[in-house]
Amino acid sequence: MMILPIVTYPDEILTKRAAAVTEITNAVIQLLDDMQETMQAYDGVGLAAPQVGQSLRVAIVETDDESGPLELINPKLIMQEGEAVDVEGCLSFPDVFGTVKRAAKIAVRYVDREGYENELVAHDYAARIIQHEIEHLDGGLFTDRMIRRLTPEELEEYMEEHDDD
Ligand SMILES: [Zn+2]
Repeated sequence: MMILPIVTYPDEILTKRAAAVTEITNAVIQLLDDMQETMQAYDGVGLAAPQVGQSLRVAIVETDDESGPLELINPKLIMQEGEAVDVEGCLSFPDVFGTVKRAAKIAVRYVDREGYENELVAHDYAARIIQHEIEHLDGGLFTDRMIRRLTPEELEEYMEEHDDD
């Protein structure tokens, strides 16, 4: 496994719609493994393939599960319910944190690394991260829908509150 460099804004790959994975090749498996290593190294909670320079519909999301992050190939939101506003950041925008409105509950259909189609329902922060990552695959950025960017003082406070994870 290898730590990949993170692509930061305004690299144009971040605003491009990523291509669907048509076959789960060794390269896709390698990408998933490298993305996991990379997300851990950068202390992220989610990562989309365009953020490591691959315009493919692949994303990973941190979970509390010991088996590792949730791996999403060709993910698609099939249900969105409610609304929630919370703070988000992004590894491609190292200094930007701000409030974003998302659905509070979602269902996502995706393919796993074995090639099986799965569905998953997520709430709260997990739902938020999944929506953020799928947005990356469509070339969307959280800064486009940010309600308000945190001030440096608010950011410091936020970081202290989330220091434990
Ligand atoms: Zn992001």
